[in-house]
Amino acid sequence: MQNNRSLFKKYIAQSSDFEPFSLDIEKGEGVFVWDKAGKKYIDFISGICVNNVGHRHPAVIAAIEEQMRKYLHVMVYGEFIQQPQLDLAQALCAQLPERLQEVFLLNSGSEAIEGAIKLARLYNHRSQIVSFANSYHGSTMGAMSVLGNTPIQQRFDPLLPNHLLLEYNNVAALEHITDKTCCVVAEVIQSGGGMVEATQEFMQALRERCTQTGTLLIFDEIQSGFGRCGKLFAFEHYGVEPDILCLAKGMGGGMPIGAFIASHELMSLLDNEHPLMGHASTFGGHPLSCVASLAALNTILSLLPQVESKGQRIRRHLQELPQLRSVSGKGLFLAAHFNDPTATAKVQARCMENGFITFWLLFNHTALALTPPLTATEEEIDLGMEIFKKSVRQAGI
Ligand code: PMP
Repeated sequence: MQNNRSLFKKYIAQSSDFEPFSLDIEKGEGVFVWDKAGKKYIDFISGICVNNVGHRHPAVIAAIEEQMRKYLHVMVYGEFIQQPQLDLAQALCAQLPERLQEVFLLNSGSEAIEGAIKLARLYNHRSQIVSFANSYHGSTMGAMSVLGNTPIQQRFDPLLPNHLLLEYNNVAALEHITDKTCCVVAEVIQSGGGMVEATQEFMQALRERCTQTGTLLIFDEIQSGFGRCGKLFAFEHYGVEPDILCLAKGMGGGMPIGAFIASHELMSLLDNEHPLMGHASTFGGHPLSCVASLAALNTILSLLPQVESKGQRIRRHLQELPQLRSVSGKGLFLAAHFNDPTATAKVQARCMENGFITFWLLFNHTALALTPPLTATEEEIDLGMEIFKKSVRQAGI
């Protein structure tokens, strides 16, 4: 497929300065994808935690097919009553605590972060925004402003002013959150850093500090949510609730959708005397995405009890590899850590040759993500992990 590869390079704006994988995809089903040459790959990356219910889950496909016969886009978000939006929002709120009971539907994670930050601004009119080193929250200007990597941000300066970056899991650093801080944006488990789990102590201290100072706590569960970590949302592991929850990726079962969720009281700040001028989105809560999302949610809820044991199964396989430095993460949100970036790149190249899809992490170049669909059976996990182990051994590291 050399021809398509050069067209891809020529016409599709590139997002990496190095050679992308350029898998020329023919189809996806369950935990597998096939390229146009007929080669089959087992997918242990799930489109970066999007395909939590696997590729083309039958419930998702059926929901889309039914909805597409009724209507597609009819009106900008928030003007017409659309049953798919209502059903989804109600189903989500039924799973969430009392302070998270109103849903703003969007198209992506970055947009959810933008909406959440704007809502926090309307709440306390403060300017300072705190986030943590090695966090990723999206690539729009507001989301990029709270990225946990200053050199990358500087390429786009000036971003939002008054951003303060703190060290993750450092309880003492939380004293820098004060009554001047508008909001804190935090991942519950940092993916880009290499599936770094927040400690219980840190999460609790963060919540307390935000409450004390009138600062809104925004959790970015765009990757860690929707069953990845063994509960619907990773924050449930900590017994600590955010004021605003941001979601996307796995939310759509393979369709584009995002949301931020808050209390009725907070959300009411967005409807004001200027219609559509609080936060607006033409395609937010697209009916096809909403029905897909509801089907995915129901599927994920039924899979939750299996996630932890499937994750443990992967960990048991990884114990056979002396080449590994460590394994981090929760549930099926895992990272395998090697000793250096060269070793990691060699393993990844072997994995691709052998038909196993994994991916590097944004801020940690010595780790590979292991995030298969939650629908992967034990046999499929074993199949994938045998290929992974073989690839590590062949890499000669
Ligand atoms: N937050 C996190 C934790 C993410 O992983 C991502 C996407 N990688 C985003 C935000 C941004 O989401 P999107 O690409 O849908 O805008």
